[in-house]
Amino acid sequence: MELNLTLKLLEKEAYSQQIAHLLLFHGGSSKDRRDVSLRLGQILNCRSLKASEPCQQCSACHKILSGNHPDVTRLEPLKTSIGIEQILAWQERLYRKHYEGNYKVFLIEKADHLTIPAANALLKVTEEPPERTVIILSAENEEGILPTLRSRAQSTYFPTGNKEQWLESLGDIDLGEAEQAFELSGQNPDLALAIMEYGVNPVKEWLDKFWRVIEQSDFLGLFPLFPLKKELAEIYLQVMAVRIQAGIKEGRFSATNILTISYALEGLRQQANPRLVIEVLALQLFQQGGTLHGRSCGSSV
Ligand SMILES: [Zn+2]
Repeated sequence: MELNLTLKLLEKEAYSQQIAHLLLFHGGSSKDRRDVSLRLGQILNCRSLKASEPCQQCSACHKILSGNHPDVTRLEPLKTSIGIEQILAWQERLYRKHYEGNYKVFLIEKADHLTIPAANALLKVTEEPPERTVIILSAENEEGILPTLRSRAQSTYFPTGNKEQWLESLGDIDLGEAEQAFELSGQNPDLALAIMEYGVNPVKEWLDKFWRVIEQSDFLGLFPLFPLKKELAEIYLQVMAVRIQAGIKEGRFSATNILTISYALEGLRQQANPRLVIEVLALQLFQQGGTLHGRSCGSSV
């Protein structure tokens, strides 16, 4: 079903307070998914709905948009993943009385970063959901969500917009930089924004150095690449995956290479030390060397 139609249906369900307890929004950009979630929160809690539209004037509407409504809350990873302790702390709020709203809305952003114990704790909640509560899982990839949790959710896919739409949504920014970030990210809006936060050039430079190390099987060459923040390591690995994916079609990389990167990302999200993850990855890529044909992953964009 077309997205607009699906969203209209969701709004109607919210208006009649018949909304599912667990929604899954995936694809598109995190901003789009968040905007829709907050709008549903407004429809569920606005004090003077006008023809099923939130009024945007009442205190509930204002508080929801500014993130200050006690019953409409947003959770995102404190570190690179959402751990069990974060879910347990949040679960307490879930079972408390409604403060001032009619309906509680809990938005979990980057839900594909839930650890398995955290996803299982959440699964328990959805088995006996508290009344007048909706939990919204928001994620880039639905594949990253525990299947048992995913199968319980009413799922909505947000198609990825084209580059022009995305650039427009950013407003006043350096267009050249944004375009490069969008290409590097494999047209993934969230990854592109993360790249822009650290700067396109620093990201490319690090990746260039990393690929030189791999091409020359020069383990000592890795040392200047550290220290390395976890968030950055995650961005680097995602960009590597995008380039390798493209390289597979051109016969420059193999499926083994992409699997190796996926394991590295997984390790990082399970709280492994970023330096260790990158070192192990380099060693594995050395061994798979035959398939890497001296083409830099960062600079070919
Ligand atoms: Zn209102």
